[in-house]
Order: sequence, then structure tokens, then C-alpha cells
Amino acid sequence: METFVYNGLPTRVIFGSGTAARLRAEIERTPCRRAFVVGTREQAASVDAVAASLGPIAVDTFAGAAMHTPTDVTQSALERFKECGADCTVAVGGGSAVGLGKAIALRTDAMQFVLPTTYAGSEMTPILGETENGVKTTQRSPKVQPEVAIYDVDLTLTLPAKLSTTSGMNAIAHAVEALYAEDRNPIISVMAEQAITALGRALPVIVANPQDRPARSDALYGAWLCGMCLGSVGMALHHKLCHVLGGSFDLPHAETHTVVLPHAFAYNAAAAPAAEQVLRRALGGNDGARALFDLAGALKAPTSLRSLGMPEDGIDHAADLAVKNPYWNPRPLERQAIRDLIAGAWAGEPPVSGAEA
Ligand code: NAD
Repeated sequence: METFVYNGLPTRVIFGSGTAARLRAEIERTPCRRAFVVGTREQAASVDAVAASLGPIAVDTFAGAAMHTPTDVTQSALERFKECGADCTVAVGGGSAVGLGKAIALRTDAMQFVLPTTYAGSEMTPILGETENGVKTTQRSPKVQPEVAIYDVDLTLTLPAKLSTTSGMNAIAHAVEALYAEDRNPIISVMAEQAITALGRALPVIVANPQDRPARSDALYGAWLCGMCLGSVGMALHHKLCHVLGGSFDLPHAETHTVVLPHAFAYNAAAAPAAEQVLRRALGGNDGARALFDLAGALKAPTSLRSLGMPEDGIDHAADLAVKNPYWNPRPLERQAIRDLIAGAWAGEPPVSGAEA
């Protein structure tokens, strides 16, 4: 018999097609009446459209959110938030937009309403990563957990195939690491398997036709579950490596996850046999790491750190950082093996898995 702890996440979730139209009613269910709508510059039109749908409830907009939540952007947004007397944030977009909403909530306790348009999953977590003077620090606080997430499949139809695949692989990484987390539990493991199955099925269809609604729905459902995995249990080697690589070499977030995941899983596979079995069931084949690598290849997603701009002479530095501070991982951290893992990911070689056949 297994002993475990399960902590349910408090976020209210509305999922479907056309659900963005319910945002105003969702805000009016709460005491909030003055919404500050945020997003990235690229999605300024979506920010304006959402604000328009709210009528007088939208008091201001800010389309300046950026990757890794820079604190100077947060300060500018915060000033506007205060000037307009807003009492809640509405974030429209991916992890960058959601991150800005969280950063404002951390400083004001404002309620957060989120309309996710990528598969990053931040809307389901109490985690906020912020960047100041080039240094990223991550914290967990219930203050940043959004109160309401409205998943509208229609908002994801415009996400280009290239972004959809790497964002989807980024989501799968949350589910994979949840399967062997130190604090894993059966509920989250069920969600993780459903999530990997749904995304593994949907992403190739989306690449062929980004307008395929059933596949978009499948992928967004999978992404929601992946977000719950990330928000509920601890992550391990894979997320640590991506943090180190992204921070040290300024590599793109979702692409780095896509490249590293098969290699990080190969490193852990023999020490996480239950996770290996889940990956075989979810993606097919008899090697979970290889199935992840082949999925990325089939999606025409990047498969090497070299192609993302990482210098070869950075491999040793990354290996040193990855083992510097101890953290939970199903297999002990061995510097040479981790160096080999990074070198394989840098070159784009197929992962070498130690899993039982
Ligand atoms: P992103 O939010 O920066 O979006 C990537 C690009 O896609 C942006 O230019 C955006 O405007 C555009 N875009 C988003 N949705 C679109 C759509 N439907 N149609 C067209 N364009 C669209 O990137 P992301 O990968 O979603 O998020 C990455 C960020 O989120 C990183 O900063 C990462 O650290 C953070 N993150 C945080 C958590 C957490 O729990 N705190 C979890 C995952 C990611």
C-alpha cells in the first residue's frame, strides 16, 4: 500500500470553446469590478478584444508583458494598475502574460483571471519566476496562484505550429517529471498519463493543420493537466537543467525544454520504472526516452542545443551548475553522466536510456 499526500489546487477552471465570453460573468461572481487586462506586445489585439468584451469593467490595458517576468516591466505595469484603481488582473496569453498577472498579484493581492493561449501551464501553479539584472529567481506563494482560469480552445487556434509544438513539449515535461517526483501521488500520476497521451496524440495533428479544433481541444486539455502536475508536485533534473541552460546561455524557454526532455528522461528512466511504463503506454514503443525524442523529431521541433545557440564550450559549465546544489532526483546526480547527457543534447544525438527493455 502506498502512502501519499494530495493537495488540491484552488483555481476554478472553465474549459471549452467560446468560453472567453464568460469572463465578465466570472468577474461579476466575485467582488471585483475593475479589471486591468495584460498581455504581450505581440498579442495587443487580443488584449484589446478582451478588454472590449468586458465593457466598463475593463479600466486599463497593458500589452508589455515579456518572457521571464522582468521586474522593470512589472514596475511599469504596477504603476498603471494603481493609477486606474484596478481591483483584479486579467492575463491573456502564455506564460509571459500570466507571469505579469502573478507579479502584480504578489505585490497587491489582486484577484487573477487568466485566459491561457499557449500550453505552458503557468496559470495552474503557485510559482513565479522573476528576472532582475539578468538574474532569475523563482518563488512559490499561494498569493500568485490564479483564482480563475478560462481555457478557450478558440484562443489557441492562432498559436503557430512551431510555437504549439515546443509549448506542447514544455507541457509534457511537467507531466513527465511529476511521474517520478519525490512527492508524487496517484491522482497526479493519472493526470500526467492522460496529459502525455492527449498531447502526444494532438500535437502531430496540429502541425499538419493548426486549425484542427478537436486536436486543439485535446492539446489544451492536456496542457491544463500538465499545469496541474507542475503546480502540485516538485520537479527534478529536467527542470533544473533547463533553468541552468536558459539562464547561462539565454536559450529560448520552450525550445530548451523540448531538446532536453528526452535526454533528462533517459538519465532517470532506469530509476523510475513506473514512469517508463507510463511513457510507453502514452506514446507507444518500448523506450520512453526514444519516444519523446521521436515525437520532437516528428513535430519538426528542435532536437539539439547547438541549434538553439548554445556554445559547445558551455557544456562543462552547465554540468557544474547542474550538480552544484543538491535537489531531489530519482537517480543520484553524477557529474560525468550529466555532462554526457548535456553533450548528447547539445549534439542532437538520440538519447541513451538505461531503462529495462
Ligand atoms: P510566451 O507567453 O512568451 O508566448 C510566446 C509567444 O507566443 C509570445 O510572443 C506570445 O505573444 C505568443 N502567443 C501566445 N499565445 C499565442 C496565440 N494563441 N496566438 C499567437 N501568438 C501567441 O511563452 P510561453 O512559452 O507561453 O511561456 C514561457 C514563460 O512562462 C517563461 O517566462 C517561463 O518561465 C514561464 N512559465 C512559468 C511557469 C510557472 O509555473 N510559473 C510555467 C511555465 C512557464
